[in-house]
Amino acid sequence: QSVFSHIVRAPEDPILGVTVAYNKDTSPVKLNLGVGAYRTEEGKPLVLNVVRQAEQLLVNDRSRIKEYLPITGLADFNKLSAKLILGADSPAIQENRVTTVQCLSGTGSLRVGGEFLAQHYHQRTIYIPQPTWGNHTKIFALAGLSVKSYRYYDPATRGLHFQGLLEDLGSAPSGAIVLLHACAHNPTGVDPTKDQWEQIRRLMRSKGLLPFFDSAYQGFASGSLDTDAQSVRMFVADGGEVLVAQSYAKNMGLYGERVGALSIVCRNADVTSRVESQLKLVIRPMYSNPPIHGASIVATILKDRNLYHEWTLELKAMADRIIRMRQQLFDALRAKGTPGDWSHIIKQIGMFTFTGLNKEQVAFMTKEYHIYMTSDGRISMAGLSSRTVPHLTDAIHAAVT
Ligand code: PMP
Repeated sequence: QSVFSHIVRAPEDPILGVTVAYNKDTSPVKLNLGVGAYRTEEGKPLVLNVVRQAEQLLVNDRSRIKEYLPITGLADFNKLSAKLILGADSPAIQENRVTTVQCLSGTGSLRVGGEFLAQHYHQRTIYIPQPTWGNHTKIFALAGLSVKSYRYYDPATRGLHFQGLLEDLGSAPSGAIVLLHACAHNPTGVDPTKDQWEQIRRLMRSKGLLPFFDSAYQGFASGSLDTDAQSVRMFVADGGEVLVAQSYAKNMGLYGERVGALSIVCRNADVTSRVESQLKLVIRPMYSNPPIHGASIVATILKDRNLYHEWTLELKAMADRIIRMRQQLFDALRAKGTPGDWSHIIKQIGMFTFTGLNKEQVAFMTKEYHIYMTSDGRISMAGLSSRTVPHLTDAIHAAVT
């Protein structure tokens, strides 16, 4: 009799479980649009050229050693990451009001930020958008925060529920933390306009709500690193406090290297250094210090002019391919005369399209067409190619007619 015999089987993760089901399917036409990972036109995972080059440089550098990094990670990586998200000429950086710690990709950065806030911030409630990336709720709840939601998406318009968002944040208790997707909101692909961001910023600052940005898609949404960082920079520009979690999974294709950063922008340099000292106490018992390889790749690319430039081109090419897939899918549904207004496919931004297909329709498409996606009808545009658009079109058409 095992001491663990009482343990019940846990369900598969709702997102990663889609791939588990996909791998079991033996159909030659099967298509995985579940997990958010970039694929080429040929349906293959992509390692960026600049990443290959950076790795070559690292391998050839005999002075490189494998000692532990500091608790806060690779110093160069942290500086360059802050510059990337806040802007090269950010006054907050010049005034030493930013502390950045290397973390385990976006997820780890959110978790460290959540733990820090749960221990040191006076208001332990975090508001997350409805809907949001499924892991947010669990990350912040386990960090010790109380998780509430604010209205974000309006199924009727397949757009932003701006009025609901303003009402919900307007009635949040003063000081509450608000999780914001910096760009390319997951799963809806719906972002506020610049003007709406400005209204959100004003409302939040007037109520003392603390912004915590999740930036998992910088450069991947519009193809421009600066455009995709605009929301974060608006909040930093007013001098107030901001947290931001960055991930290099998508924009450098470093998924499995688990490389990301948490930055906390504070009001002055003195507070900032005390915040950093406490972040170290959060990290030390969690994983001691972060891994060296992925951060070295990122730092190598970010500090070299030529590599950086080449990266922006490769990044733009990925973003453009996704945008092309949106257009192709939209055109194909139109050409087929599939009932419904599918313009949201080309209006939404980033890796995902929130199709509006319901659970039953998704199950039908998986069963009859071997197409895999999350049950909320979210499809990864990055998993689609010109070759597979017709198959997806047929499936959607059959599901809605
Ligand atoms: N936030 C959002 C909104 C995401 O979509 C993702 C990746 N799916 C992440 C954070 C974190 O990803 P990672 O930990 O791989 O960087």
